Amino acid sequence: MAAALAANCRTGVGTPAAASDELRITVYDEAHLPPQMLFDALDRLRLILRQAKITSHPVLGDPANPEASLFMYVSLPRGGEESQIACGARRDIAVKIGGSSPGSLAHTVLGMSSPFAPFGLNVRIFDDHIREAALQHDLSDTIVLSYAMAHEIGHVLLRSCSHGEQGIMSPIWTKREYDRMNGGALVFSDDEAMKMSANFRAPVCRLPDRRFPIRTEIFEGIPLLQGRMRPANPHK
Ligand SMILES: [Zn+2]
Repeated sequence: MAAALAANCRTGVGTPAAASDELRITVYDEAHLPPQMLFDALDRLRLILRQAKITSHPVLGDPANPEASLFMYVSLPRGGEESQIACGARRDIAVKIGGSSPGSLAHTVLGMSSPFAPFGLNVRIFDDHIREAALQHDLSDTIVLSYAMAHEIGHVLLRSCSHGEQGIMSPIWTKREYDRMNGGALVFSDDEAMKMSANFRAPVCRLPDRRFPIRTEIFEGIPLLQGRMRPANPHK
């Protein structure tokens, strides 16, 4: 499987396209969430992104679509290729909400992203872990789900695996983040919003046919969002 992925990880030589004003978010709901809950979570997600001046358009995707089963992590290269890799990253969002997380994944992990993936999923959400975190912090599943999606989409739009010290892009959400979620006061920082907008509106570039460095150890090094207050080493 890993070898097949690596062999397929070439960027197509596409036609440069004009940047869209609207971020398309294709949602593959493999957790079979109640329709109203999913609708409310996506509505809240739209509001969170709008606060960062990103207009979004979530749509439901067919889980049978091959891209719903393809998640690859493109490592950030060293040595000046960062802008090329970022340029070839998928511009829209393809998010899978899974209902049953891999057993090897810590329960504190709510989601992960692949900010430089040229195709396939670039966001994954673990709904069973979302529900655990919501229960622990006495919040609705809908609220935690919407903010977890916002965090991972933030990585993609920022073209970065880095985290902020606090707020939506904090690597570990503490009581402070959960309290702000509840009041709708958890937002992207001005700097994050500015970078997200700039990346989103940047023209799509043409890349030569080339292989990207694909990391096959699926959880190692991927930016993971931790939903509970934990000691150091969130990226174990
Ligand atoms: Zn993160």
